[in-house]
Amino acid sequence: MILKLILLGIVLVAVYRFMGGSLSPSSPKNGAEEADADALEECETCGIYVTKKESIMVKGKHYCSKECLPN
Ligand SMILES: [Zn+2]
Repeated sequence: MILKLILLGIVLVAVYRFMGGSLSPSSPKNGAEEADADALEECETCGIYVTKKESIMVKGKHYCSKECLPN
């Protein structure tokens, strides 16, 4: 019975490490980049929030569309 509990514990630790491993910073860089692309940025001109990948970035500031770009 105790042996079964020890085996169960080992399995749980193995599963925990496996799950943790997939979420660790050593996982592929793509995950972080995708999350970054979905981050919301506020348009400097009209204040609308757009995702980073949809925003237009000029001089370190984000804009929702060409209409909001500074002249
Ligand atoms: Zn805008």
